[in-house]
Amino acid sequence: MTPGSPVHDSDYDRVAATPLTCLSGVGDKVAEKLAARGLLTLQDLWFHLPRQYEDRTELVPIRLLRPGLPAQVEGVVEAVERSYRGRPMLKVAIGDDSQATLVLRFFHFRGTQVAQFAVGTRIRAYGTPRAGQIGLEIVHPSYRVLGAGVEPVLSDSLDPIYPAIDGVGPVVLRKLIGQALQRLPEGESMELLPADVFAGEPLCARLPSLREALMTLHRPPQGSDVPALLAGTHPAQRRLAIEELLAHHLSLRRQRIAMQSHGAPPLRKARLLDALRERLPFALTGAQARVLAEIRDDLGRPVPMLRLVQGDVGSGKTVVAAMAALLAVEEGRQAALMAPTELLAEQHLANLRAWLEPLGVRVVWLAGKVTGKARDAVLADIAGGAAQVVVGTHALMQEGVVFRDLALAIVDEQHRFGVHQRLALRDKGSSGDSVPHQLVMTATPIPRTLAMAAYADLDVSAIDELPPGRTPVQTVVLSAERRPELIERIRAACREGRQAYWVCTLIDDSDEVIAQAAQTTFELLTQQMPELRIALVHGRLKAAEKQKTMAAFKAGEVQLLVATTVIEVGVDVPNASLMIIENAERLGLAQLHQLRGRVGRGSAASSCVLLYQSPLSRMARQRLETMRETNDGFVIAEKDLQLRGPGELLGTRQTGLAAFRIADLGRDAALLPTVQRIGEALLRASPDLAERLTLRWIGGAVRYASA
Ligand code: ADP
Ligand code: MG
Repeated sequence: MTPGSPVHDSDYDRVAATPLTCLSGVGDKVAEKLAARGLLTLQDLWFHLPRQYEDRTELVPIRLLRPGLPAQVEGVVEAVERSYRGRPMLKVAIGDDSQATLVLRFFHFRGTQVAQFAVGTRIRAYGTPRAGQIGLEIVHPSYRVLGAGVEPVLSDSLDPIYPAIDGVGPVVLRKLIGQALQRLPEGESMELLPADVFAGEPLCARLPSLREALMTLHRPPQGSDVPALLAGTHPAQRRLAIEELLAHHLSLRRQRIAMQSHGAPPLRKARLLDALRERLPFALTGAQARVLAEIRDDLGRPVPMLRLVQGDVGSGKTVVAAMAALLAVEEGRQAALMAPTELLAEQHLANLRAWLEPLGVRVVWLAGKVTGKARDAVLADIAGGAAQVVVGTHALMQEGVVFRDLALAIVDEQHRFGVHQRLALRDKGSSGDSVPHQLVMTATPIPRTLAMAAYADLDVSAIDELPPGRTPVQTVVLSAERRPELIERIRAACREGRQAYWVCTLIDDSDEVIAQAAQTTFELLTQQMPELRIALVHGRLKAAEKQKTMAAFKAGEVQLLVATTVIEVGVDVPNASLMIIENAERLGLAQLHQLRGRVGRGSAASSCVLLYQSPLSRMARQRLETMRETNDGFVIAEKDLQLRGPGELLGTRQTGLAAFRIADLGRDAALLPTVQRIGEALLRASPDLAERLTLRWIGGAVRYASA
């Protein structure tokens, strides 16, 4: 890395802060549109980086096109077909010297457009081909008509594609960025990172300067390493990815420091906790005891705890949470437990009531379905303090929910909530300079590197041991054609007094369609096994009905439960030893792992059958193989990260991680340890630079609502 010695240059600052109205073509209107996206100054535009590139430096013969690989082609219109059956459609077949034909397909088009495509007209088009009804096609290519005698030149560099801005078209935006780049200061005055923070970091060796990196990315010069740029692995991209990851990391660290500058009520008395421990029918596992000790250590201090507890499905997080809640209760304060689905929240309610009420602790329930007088009564209990522990769904965060003295906010399955929601619950307990302790639980194991980026504001504990006596689940992958064999399998399990789940999934995410499919399966299975007690749950049922069915299943009255993925999280019926998942090829690894975690909770040998529809895509095959090979949530999470990238793993709403401009946590995960080290060095040496870096990349928009 080029040393960036002049780390504070007021000249740079002055240019960087110039309002965009200095550019020609930016009047009040355009400035407003840009401002709406946080683009106010020249620096903002310099750092508005291309999301992608289009390679129009060459023409690809139609015969050599490959599905999924974007390309530019040129050809002569051979045939045009316009149809209005169903929805309007325009198909234009073009051919070239390679003796092959490509279809350009449009679903939205104007009459003038149709007129352009006279047979014999030469067209240049760019897009991503896919397999069509006959040969390859490109849907909605960008294209231009080449008039007679016109011989347009090929681009000599890659075309940058910028994140779209409402009201400012791509051509205008490119021009504005071009103008802004002309004012990019020469030399190294823009470097914020002193060279010595990179010393000894192998991944930072031989990277371009910040200025060079920006120029390369905005205007890749001829002769650039095109494949590397398209793959996002170019040194210029790495240079900026490091800065961006660093900025985010520092911002999270700062949030954490800010949060911990508040006070929090120390929770130390453990009489109730010990009483619960004695009453439990089991002893805590070593891992549970260790994590509980970590939590107690945090809660005993007068600063807010910020702790994430990771534990694989069935590792016993709930009882640890219950014990933490008792610490708050014993100090005369309140604890809240929020879960992402009603079903899961209800399970928590049942568990907490069973554990805490015998100790004289009042546990109340609040969900969206609690309305009218009942709701008023619960709200009064929460506000008055009679409700010592409050369990519920998102409803806990609604306006009107006022705690008398919330000391501990527990959020289960954090990945299903946004960070803002976690903070909203925390804010319910802020008073004066005191904020509640926060405990976040997740069963989605997050690879260590990713956790570092996503949760730099949290301490992480792992319950990395399952309660004793569980036998690992045997997983079988079967083609759907072999479905009939399963009937015997289910009968056998039920004959032994065991229970089974049949999970229906569909790619369609409409509740209605999925509920319908589950209904059909339910009817079919009932016909095939009239001797079994079979029940159905799905998201469209009334809460009371769902609850009744789940209770019957838990009590063993129902032998086979046909369900949608509503049972994914939290459902706990140790006697269930067989799970069948239909269309397993359509689910992601994390979801499959969650579902499978519903069995193998008792001592009986359990199995999980993954039914798939042929043909399997390569990715789907790999997922199913991974499921067959391992039960280890952490191994599965690493594999998931490889296969799908981090956005899906964390949930895109997670932390704004999806909002990175250039970094990609899947691709750049290997950079994170480096970023962490650099971050520490920078905070030690020059906290003011850390601040400036965060401002540059993240701007005034604070990542977390307010910490
Ligand atoms: P998860 O971590 O997936 O939320 P739960 O808290 O639902 O797991 O626990 C799963 C099951 O294991 C529950 O039935 C719970 O009562 C039981 N359990 C928890 N801890 C232990 C333990 N130490 N020994 C035996 N069973 C336990
Ligand atoms: Mg749980």
